[in-house]
Amino acid sequence: MLNIVLFGPPGAGKGTQSEKMIQKYGIEHISTGDLFRKHLGEGTELGKLAKKYMDEGNLVPDEVVIGMVDERIKSSKDSEGFIFDGFPRTVAQAEALDELLNSKGLGISGMISLEVPEDELRKRIKERGKTSGRTDDQDDKKVDNRIRVYKEETMPVAQYYQKQGKLTKIDGVGSIEEIFSAICEVVDNY
Ligand code: ADP
Repeated sequence: MLNIVLFGPPGAGKGTQSEKMIQKYGIEHISTGDLFRKHLGEGTELGKLAKKYMDEGNLVPDEVVIGMVDERIKSSKDSEGFIFDGFPRTVAQAEALDELLNSKGLGISGMISLEVPEDELRKRIKERGKTSGRTDDQDDKKVDNRIRVYKEETMPVAQYYQKQGKLTKIDGVGSIEEIFSAICEVVDNY
């Protein structure tokens, strides 16, 4: 099984590369941002709860996220593996994911971190905001907060996997195809 954590700041291109990875490797995409937006669209209790946090660019509480991912993994039968996109975003989430996979005799194959400079991220998020309809993409203050939260709460997750010898950094600036082939080189060696 291939269980890959695709890591990087907001706007790094995780969603775009995930799409290509699921096609090539036949694994499932678990994007916590997409799952929350689905709940939001369906007006579920979970969606209402998450909205408060997402609107401000803050993190949804760990126990809520972990519960949702647990359900999502359980609902998948005979999977060849998963790409985790936007998760884990805190060290507590990373520990919970390890426990969850370990209890099934599984583990994370590796983390791929897309490295993109901050000015480029801001440019991409603004551009995406024109078409994504995501209010958190359209407001500079919300974008600032997401980048701040990323640095403070999420960056330590990279160290968590580095300590396990599972971190590979990839240049996230370039064409979609160039970045994808750099990712494949890493994945093909797992
Ligand atoms: P981006 O990476 O572009 O900021 P996402 O779609 O991954 O966007 O996430 C959108 C929002 O959903 C986040 O700002 C946060 O509020 C919430 N969210 C998504 N994943 C998580 C997570 N693993 N933990 C906590 N909150 C999350």
